[in-house]
Amino acid sequence: MSAPQAPVQRADFDQVMVPNYAPAAFIPVRGAGSRVWDQSGRELIDFAGGIAVNVLGHAHPALVGALTEQANKLWHVSNVFTNEPALRLAHKLVDATFAERAFFCNSGAEANEAAFKLARRVAHDRFGPEKHEIIATVNSFHGRTLFTVSVGGQPKYSDGFGPKITGISHVPYNDLEALKAQISDKTCAVVIEPIQGESGVVPADVAYLQGARELCDKHNALLIFDEVQTGVGRTGELFAYMHYGVTPDILSSAKSLGGGFPIGAMLTTEALAKHLAVGTHGTTYGGNPLACAVANAVLDVVNTPEVLAGVKAKHQKFKARLEQIGEKYGLFTQVRGIGLLIGCVLSEAWKGKAKDVFNAAEKEGLMVLQAGPDVVRFAPSLVVEDADIDEGLDRFERAAAKLTQA
Ligand SMILES: *Cc1c(COP(=O)(O)O)cnc(C)c1O
Repeated sequence: MSAPQAPVQRADFDQVMVPNYAPAAFIPVRGAGSRVWDQSGRELIDFAGGIAVNVLGHAHPALVGALTEQANKLWHVSNVFTNEPALRLAHKLVDATFAERAFFCNSGAEANEAAFKLARRVAHDRFGPEKHEIIATVNSFHGRTLFTVSVGGQPKYSDGFGPKITGISHVPYNDLEALKAQISDKTCAVVIEPIQGESGVVPADVAYLQGARELCDKHNALLIFDEVQTGVGRTGELFAYMHYGVTPDILSSAKSLGGGFPIGAMLTTEALAKHLAVGTHGTTYGGNPLACAVANAVLDVVNTPEVLAGVKAKHQKFKARLEQIGEKYGLFTQVRGIGLLIGCVLSEAWKGKAKDVFNAAEKEGLMVLQAGPDVVRFAPSLVVEDADIDEGLDRFERAAAKLTQA
């Protein structure tokens, strides 16, 4: 038994935490499926999914089982040794995707960091130091390390931290002509989110990704898909690139991969992977047995026809009702996204007020997300029950009614 713990409250956050977040007024203490309970015992429906992380909801028995079984066996050995869960996970990812090699780390930013370093290393080895330029897209998000905020297309995340990583340019998303004008033989990689998640749930056009693939091939540049938010079943395919039918050279995954346990992965081909030779890159925790045991269990459940087909069916259910609510209350003009990554674009009257919708939903017992100030985002569990979808959207409609009638 653990020792009794001192009581804590939301107000403690402002006393003891670095103020880089502004968490909601309540503290969740327990979850089961798509329901969460706070300190006072109030129950909420979770359509936020920990920002597209809790892919199987809370306390899914398969994940709890995998974690506790591994917890009683072996937690950590470092990469001085390999371990069984990591090797099993790598086999599963290699079998299920274009990739032939996996690198494990602990977050999306680290997966992208590895992807960008690999791309630069490959170009350096094959063509020399001149070929180091990375092209990313305006409004993209790739994580919060200095390299990943430099590649990300949102200056609010990269300004004010001193010199950025150089050799990076940004072109408008979904604009093939702009990419064509920017790409050159100095380009080592083009980085694209198949759906821009953080900046408003904006899906790529198929022709854009196809065109990017062709331009990369023409200029010996690598195509990197950041699938940290779109991967592991979110779109109704295991990865979004499968939905689009356009295969990258390097893919980053995290978020849903661990279902709530921190893990990231960079996937690539054998020919590229060999450029990260012994000693060129690493991480102490990456591929640790606990994280990999959970990710194995996540893939076993998610990568099944039932779950993936369920995502597509649940998308329809969300979309139909959200469009109805948006129209009835004049709250949004468009419901976009793929699978269970859905964005409601606020109407002119509500532009900039996604936070107000978030707060109104919370008051009705519903957790949603923002994706920038103009979009309300839903990223629920992929196995959210239909009854929970109905009840959650009833709550959302009550929130919309109160907000628009106030
Ligand atoms: C969340 C996210 C990241 C960063 O992942 P972290 O685990 O927070 O480092 C990177 N890229 C995309 C597309 C994301 O949505």
